[in-house]
Amino acid sequence: HAKRMGKSNYQFYHDSMHSKIQGNIELESLLRKAIKRNEFSLFYQPQIGTKSNQIYGAEALIRWNSHELGMISPAEFIPLAEESGLIVPIGEWVIREACQQVKNWQCANLPLFPVSVNLSIRQFYQSDLIPMIRKIIEETGIEPHYLELEITETMAMEAESATIILQELKNTGVKIAMDDFGTGYSSLNYLKKFPIDHLKIDQSFVKDISYDKDDKDIVSTIIVLAHNLNMLTIAEGVETAEHVAFLKEHKCDVLQGYHFSKPLPPQEFESWLKNWVKSENE
Ligand code: C2E
Ligand code: MG
Ligand code: MG
Ligand code: MG
Repeated sequence: HAKRMGKSNYQFYHDSMHSKIQGNIELESLLRKAIKRNEFSLFYQPQIGTKSNQIYGAEALIRWNSHELGMISPAEFIPLAEESGLIVPIGEWVIREACQQVKNWQCANLPLFPVSVNLSIRQFYQSDLIPMIRKIIEETGIEPHYLELEITETMAMEAESATIILQELKNTGVKIAMDDFGTGYSSLNYLKKFPIDHLKIDQSFVKDISYDKDDKDIVSTIIVLAHNLNMLTIAEGVETAEHVAFLKEHKCDVLQGYHFSKPLPPQEFESWLKNWVKSENE
């Protein structure tokens, strides 16, 4: 009996694995073609400074509009891009596109602000990361501090070389943000050593901030910790006026979330920003 069950379990496992692998191979080959076919784009989400109420920066977030599959969210394809190594060329495209966009916006009649991009672990430890970034900054002609790279705690804790890589990145003049702070594996000791400009407080802590005592304590403590270590804080997932009020009261530096805007394609972002500047000056 046990044997039969074992066998049918195996069969079941095997079949679902098979279709999963099959599906992944198909997705991977589509992903492989997506750069050449121009199917990726970047959306931008504004970040607002709490002191000035002005734009502080924008986060670039990748979108994939696949000819075969339609819109696919990064949460679905980034893991596969990482597994397959395709994240290296995709990630390079993201950085180049973001820097080009910075350049375009600086030429337009808009306030200046930096753009941040998410790095994946594969990219972070890729041997030519630094020369690649230098080259893109040079070719697009932006000042390096208009580019910010977002890494996660887990990425930074993975290897001994992380501190060196971060220091070399800082030497290129780009900014560094620690994304999803509080959700990963981190050591406060390292936090002190890493040259981090911004701590991004994960949205899971912000969500219930209006009524959850633990989340209130966690968030206000992260802000104090960051300030003591000479970092600024960016709250993610800011959705309500209550979130804004709490975060301002506790001196969070920058706010990002649907309360201000969802991520937008470049042209819509520009309109959003013009409107924001106008309403702030009224
Ligand atoms: P992330 O870097 O933490 O980005 C924030 C995510 O939260 C984005 O999801 C954004 O749309 C979403 N978000 C923003 N404001 C709010 C809000 O007020 N409420 C809620 N519920 N969500 C909000 P998105 O664009 O689907 O990206 C998901 C994740 O995919 C990102 O998380 C990042 O880890 C990854 N990702 C996105 N673009 C790239 C990329 O170019 N390269 C790499 N390696 N990863 C990327
Ligand atoms: Mg991010
Ligand atoms: Mg995040
Ligand atoms: Mg994330």
